[in-house]
Amino acid sequence: MNEMNNIEWKKLGFKFFPTKHMFVATCSSEGWKVEGLRPFGNIEISPAAGVLNYGQGLFEGLKAYSGRDSNVYLFRPQKNAERIHNGCKRLCIPPLPLDIFVQAVNEVTKANREYVPPYQEDSIAQGALYLRPVVWGTGPVLGVSPAPSYTFVTYACPVGPYFRSGFECIKLKISDSHHRAAPGGTGGVKAIGNYCVGMMPAKAAKDEGFQEILYLDAKDNRYIEEVGAANFFCIKGNRLYTPNLDGCILPGVTRSSILHLAKHEFGMEVFEQKISVEDILDCDEAFASGTAAVITPIGSVQHQQKEIVINNSEPGTVSKKIYKMLLDIQHGITDDKYNWRSVVE
Ligand SMILES: *Cc1c(COP(=O)(O)O)cnc(C)c1O
Repeated sequence: MNEMNNIEWKKLGFKFFPTKHMFVATCSSEGWKVEGLRPFGNIEISPAAGVLNYGQGLFEGLKAYSGRDSNVYLFRPQKNAERIHNGCKRLCIPPLPLDIFVQAVNEVTKANREYVPPYQEDSIAQGALYLRPVVWGTGPVLGVSPAPSYTFVTYACPVGPYFRSGFECIKLKISDSHHRAAPGGTGGVKAIGNYCVGMMPAKAAKDEGFQEILYLDAKDNRYIEEVGAANFFCIKGNRLYTPNLDGCILPGVTRSSILHLAKHEFGMEVFEQKISVEDILDCDEAFASGTAAVITPIGSVQHQQKEIVINNSEPGTVSKKIYKMLLDIQHGITDDKYNWRSVVE
């Protein structure tokens, strides 16, 4: 029986809902070892664990999609494997082998297949099985140093459609007093400690009626970095711009896919470069990108006392075009010209 008929997945949004199986691998002085699938549940951990005391941990996020055919697909899981591998190096975690990561996301999807939301004709109404790989320093440490042992877990959770009422624009606020990342820091990797620092400014912005913070760089307080935990893009005519990967920007898989499609499918000129707040004053469209929503159009940006309105606060035609093509690739509707899909068998 399909579990998804029983839990009203469309109303789940992005709330945690447990599935049956998780995947575990561990690392001691002998290196990484696969433990395999086990029932989803609590794990025992020393209060002296490196991750609990010093935040030595990383996460990933990707989705398994129901295709229009009856396949279940992953989208570019190798890219997430490479990203967590690089993140491990930055946090002094023995780099997780790429094949263990790919095995984990495939096995967890397969074992929890009954929780993958069914394909929907209306692309905006798609749900997915969200996969959450995490790696932690679980061995005990007292001084500030790398943990003696590590645990990698991948669990899964069904998520409902991101947009509740159609493809809607978000309102952003530029933060005057907070930054997400600093030069030489960990903004370029999915370090767990990067995310709690954004909660307070995001909450304050939400209380004022904005959906997210648009972060500027910490050095000059002038150049756009990211939209909360999503990448930023803007469009002027046939040109697509996004901030270059300078160590403060998280290299999104969606970001890289959008750059590729814009250039090779839509014949746009793409630029990865510094983008100042003044640069967006005359843009035609702007959007945020990430696994959760794929593309979220940006309707306005509040900067000090000024409101910058983009495309009359309507989703732009180019944004919609790129969004549709990405969803069509993810759900097995168009040709997989670039080999981005992998079937979970
Ligand atoms: C995960 C993440 C993104 C988006 O990455 P995707 O691979 O496209 O999901 C963007 N910015 C930050 C800060 C992130 O953590």
